[in-house]
Amino acid sequence: MNLTLDRQAIQNAVAGLKFRTQAFIDGRFGPSSSGQTYASVNPANGKPIAQIASCDIEDINRAVAAARRAFNSGCWSKLKPGDRKAIMLKFVERLEANAMEIALLDSMDAGKPIYDCVNIDIPDAIHCIHWHAELIDKLYERVSPTGPENVAMIVREPIGVVGMIVPWNFPAQMMAWKIGPALAAGNCLVVKPAKQTSLSALRIAELAAEAGIPAGVLNVVPGSGAVIGAALCRHMDVEMVAFTGSTEVGRALLNYSAESNLKRVILELGGKNPQVVLSDPPDLDLVAANALNSAFWNMGENCSSGSRLIVHRQHKDALLAKLIEQCHTWPVGDPLNPANRVGPLIEKSHMETVLRYIAAGHADGAKLVLGGQRTLQATGGNFVELTIFDEVNNNMKIAREEIFGPVLGILPVDSDDEAVAVANDTNYGLAASLYTRDVNKAHRVARALRAGTVSVNCFSEGDLATPFGGFKESGFFGRDKSIYAQEQYAELKTIWMQIG
Ligand code: NAP
Ligand code: MG
Repeated sequence: MNLTLDRQAIQNAVAGLKFRTQAFIDGRFGPSSSGQTYASVNPANGKPIAQIASCDIEDINRAVAAARRAFNSGCWSKLKPGDRKAIMLKFVERLEANAMEIALLDSMDAGKPIYDCVNIDIPDAIHCIHWHAELIDKLYERVSPTGPENVAMIVREPIGVVGMIVPWNFPAQMMAWKIGPALAAGNCLVVKPAKQTSLSALRIAELAAEAGIPAGVLNVVPGSGAVIGAALCRHMDVEMVAFTGSTEVGRALLNYSAESNLKRVILELGGKNPQVVLSDPPDLDLVAANALNSAFWNMGENCSSGSRLIVHRQHKDALLAKLIEQCHTWPVGDPLNPANRVGPLIEKSHMETVLRYIAAGHADGAKLVLGGQRTLQATGGNFVELTIFDEVNNNMKIAREEIFGPVLGILPVDSDDEAVAVANDTNYGLAASLYTRDVNKAHRVARALRAGTVSVNCFSEGDLATPFGGFKESGFFGRDKSIYAQEQYAELKTIWMQIG
């Protein structure tokens, strides 16, 4: 992949962008049936980027019908594994050839630093599709232990029509985490991108078609979640829905399933993730660098963001000094400037929510040590300063609720046991990290932390080969990434044979 980060090249590329703004259904672009559109707004300056088709229930019905026709025809689901893989690898080639464009779309639409889009989101998205394509012809099925009179095969079959509802914080990457394994498993998909960030999803669908993924296999329908997202989840001809987003909407999806056809639902939800610095931490420069990455990467608009830094009191002041010292490595500003690491928040209303959390931190008695204000107002963008509160306790609102902004709370504790207890005292359980020099303690505490991913002496979500998903209210049944993701997009069938 050739992704240059020269400022002039970025500006030229932005000037040359052509936006795909219509729904992609049954292999072609078209307007919403009502003809309505909505503006996609650039959160860095408040200006509209493009008008996007605002689809309604009729459009969802058309997309599901197209996916059903494609599925029943077998044009995708019944391909030989090697043939499906070959088409997906062509899809990967098309993505690689257009990676910079997709990076720019996500940066402009979501306010994400272009540095991250180019170095993290888009390479990871492409690698995800590649990884799952490669797995297609390497998964074996099973024969169960039976007596000599029988043969029992346990086979996997694609589920059918799968709806996918994705969020705005990692638009292309979250779409890839879902479509990669689901396409590889032979399903036909209807994707509802977040309203704020539909541009990359529409372009990715077009590239899939160019690569030879047949019409109807990958449909993208933009529009309101409350209208068409709900319609997709209530649809009687959709067998499964995969969702990444808020816990609140995730709960609604379980109801939609119960009220319709008991479709499978997998949910990747929010987090209030602890970073636990035990009594014997490694080098505090390393801890600080990881802690800032965990808190401020993607503006803190990250479900795995480590927004609770739980620190043994004897190391707290030294660590806080390192955090402040290293903050300059996270410059806030125009996301299209490759030097910046923190862009604006997704919407004005979300920025106001984050500022209300900061006010709640003050009101609850936490001690502000950095930031706390809106910034760069003249740009028209939704920028908030990097914010750190000290002397937070776990009952405060800023320690209990997901803020989804650049706000880090430091919670001092007096023992390792207390650190683990505070870490686990939350309704969430997506990710956690821990810092210690003692390998035995690392193993013990990693087991004790109730989270889907625990990273030791670093902040990490692992790689494509590791499952990602949450305990408790951070998720429901299922994982993104890894062999487990691919398997969950398939039904298990038992074929029991009598030998005559
Ligand atoms: P959200 O409001 O839950 O939206 C997520 C998606 O669901 C959007 O596409 C949205 O459509 C759609 N939606 C909204 N209401 C719906 C309904 N009634 N039925 C069906 N779909 C509906 O969340 P968000 O504010 O966009 O994203 C932030 C949240 O996502 C955070 O809580 C974060 O923790 C979580 N998240 C989790 C993960 C993970 O891997 N666990 C990853 C990223 C984000 P609209 O376009 O209309 O909003
Ligand atoms: Mg936008």
